[in-house]
Amino acid sequence: MLKIENLHAEIDGKPILKGLSLEVNAGEIHAIMGPNGAGKSTLGYVLGGRPGYEVTEGSITFAPENGQPQDLLELAPNERAAAGVFLGFQYPVEIPGVSNVQFLREALNAQRATRDEKPLSGAEFLKLARAQAASLEMDAEMLKRPVNVGFSGGEKKRNEMVQMGIVNPKFAILDETDSGLDIDALRIVGDGINRIMRAPDKAVLLITHYQRLLDYVQPDFVHVLADGRIVRSGGADLAHELEREGYAGVAA
Ligand code: ADP
Ligand code: MG
Ligand code: MG
Repeated sequence: MLKIENLHAEIDGKPILKGLSLEVNAGEIHAIMGPNGAGKSTLGYVLGGRPGYEVTEGSITFAPENGQPQDLLELAPNERAAAGVFLGFQYPVEIPGVSNVQFLREALNAQRATRDEKPLSGAEFLKLARAQAASLEMDAEMLKRPVNVGFSGGEKKRNEMVQMGIVNPKFAILDETDSGLDIDALRIVGDGINRIMRAPDKAVLLITHYQRLLDYVQPDFVHVLADGRIVRSGGADLAHELEREGYAGVAA
């Protein structure tokens, strides 16, 4: 579904990703772990198409099932979203003056338009949004509030998962979705990721510092990202090894 080859990317002329290669098949969940500053969020932003992140070498091919392989780097961020790519932010943005409902309905209907699907009516959309909020145990009242404004860290993360449930992507990059979550919220968010994304035609890149989210969302593969490259790959056991021994011992 996703093939990253020898990816080099820089910010303001500073090299951050330095030859990263990774292949993710449909049906797989891959965890990316690694020390602070390794380039994990940068990888997420490059996949999402955030301006300011310049790819200087390498390629990213996105090939969802029943779709033509596409050069992801040729697509604008909105085109990537329409193609089924979702980026859950490490630091979700606040959008004062725009309610969650407005924002999500616009986003969903813009994506539907690119697939020649008719827009959802207000009532149809609300039904969908309420169902997603309920399954993430988020108060439906929060759908009416401006996007993320005044939300706690954990509420923002939960709201990201509600967004993901609504747009129902093929490929999700989730950047430290576990940060700021207490134990109960961690379980709810973990269940949400499994419910929305565990499917034979979907895949996930789960960026996390800690093993604890991986108790709820079991990865098929774990990779260690250090200094802009993947320095080690393994199965779910690698996360436990990292938790015991730290990155220094494992990545060396
Ligand atoms: P991680 O998510 O693994 O902690 P990041 O991808 O956020 O790492 O950052 C990787 C490196 O890029 C860090 O050294 C960070 O300081 C640098 N960096 C990130 N964003 C910027 C920016 N906007 N300008 C300059 N350097 C940046
Ligand atoms: Mg970090
Ligand atoms: Mg980060």
